[in-house]
Amino acid sequence: MVRVARVLPESIADALSVVAGTEILTVNGREIADFLDWEFLTADDVLEIEVRLPEGELAILEVEREEGDVLGVELEPPTVRRCANRCEFCFIEGLPAGLRKPLYVRDDDYRLSFAYGNFATLSNLKERDFARILEYRLSPLYVSVHATPWEARKVLLNNPRVPDVVAQLRRLVDGGIEFHGQMVVVPGLNDGDVLEQSLADLWSFGEACRSVALVPVGLTQFSHLYTGKSMDRERARELLTVAERWGARALGERGDRWVYGSDELYLLAGAPLPDADFYGDFPQVENGVGAVAALRSRVDAGLTALPRLDGMRIGVVTGTAMRALMPGILERVAGVTGATFEMIVAENSLFGPTTTTAGLLVGADIRGALADRSDLSLALIPAETINDHGLFLDDVVFEELSKGMPMSVQPSYDFIDTLGEGAMADVLQGSRT
Ligand code: SF4
Repeated sequence: MVRVARVLPESIADALSVVAGTEILTVNGREIADFLDWEFLTADDVLEIEVRLPEGELAILEVEREEGDVLGVELEPPTVRRCANRCEFCFIEGLPAGLRKPLYVRDDDYRLSFAYGNFATLSNLKERDFARILEYRLSPLYVSVHATPWEARKVLLNNPRVPDVVAQLRRLVDGGIEFHGQMVVVPGLNDGDVLEQSLADLWSFGEACRSVALVPVGLTQFSHLYTGKSMDRERARELLTVAERWGARALGERGDRWVYGSDELYLLAGAPLPDADFYGDFPQVENGVGAVAALRSRVDAGLTALPRLDGMRIGVVTGTAMRALMPGILERVAGVTGATFEMIVAENSLFGPTTTTAGLLVGADIRGALADRSDLSLALIPAETINDHGLFLDDVVFEELSKGMPMSVQPSYDFIDTLGEGAMADVLQGSRT
């Protein structure tokens, strides 16, 4: 059963008097267990939908729609499948105490892997899940492989009952499913021979394994489970060498690099980040693979759309990871707009200095960086720091923080989104009101 959260006005559901709180039980005789069933079983144009109205009354809704007519139903968020593993490097285990509850949920959900690109280990897949993945053709999936040798994977996931991922992937691939894989590499556990074996196993899936990301283990000062070695420069370089060797082979044999080091791996290794061409169609940009190259590309593509902003002094708040990379980007934006840009590097006060990603800065960091900067006319902060409800990770409300600052504060993904002609008109209007 799924429950309706909202009905779009003037939609089919609206015309049928469906309201928030209505439970959807079956579609064309098939039980609806979650949003996947709903999405796939309502693809037909003729539907018989069994519902229970909020007052408890059962009803059958007959739908016959023209192509393109939307049902107009938004469902309540799904109950997330929890993770059965206890990886030492788990980011959730590295969160400090006292944050809002949803942040501590360790999801491991193949449905979210398909729908949103969340990585899942597949270690909690049941027979029914395999059947659904194959029936609904949930492809591509995003799989946290970490290691293919079974024993190594049990250790990495800290779960002796974890299934053999090679057999799982083989079953899915034989059923027509493709996947992207990631390996969080922990020195001593899944580098060296385990890494080589894992890449060889993944390579054996051919085109069905679309890409592999090598991500260095990332810890916060609260990662209390972790007993392994840290990823130092030497180890990061060794990993990059492996990625480049396999990447060169893949480029020659299948036309793309297939295996990529994350941006963080390059930074740890002290190696220059590749240009955008290196990443093809950026198969794992959301996973921090080529994110800086993608940012540079978006900035370059959008420069001509930027207005002159002579006389403006603009602060750009970022994390320590971008300290060496941001100046080149800001120089280009300054050259076109005439504004003066200042990079303001903030340390992460919540997770500690080892957490260098700009997107994990919290409200207190932003406030600390900007509160005394009345010399700035505008401050840009990483848009990723704020969730859909306008909250930073430390529960600071963006609207409230922004009102207390001596300049206009704008979340920005890539400068172009905020400094573009129309957007700046809004910013300037906002700063006058
Ligand atoms: S699979 Fe590991 S890293 Fe992912 S949520 Fe579970 S314990 Fe954390």
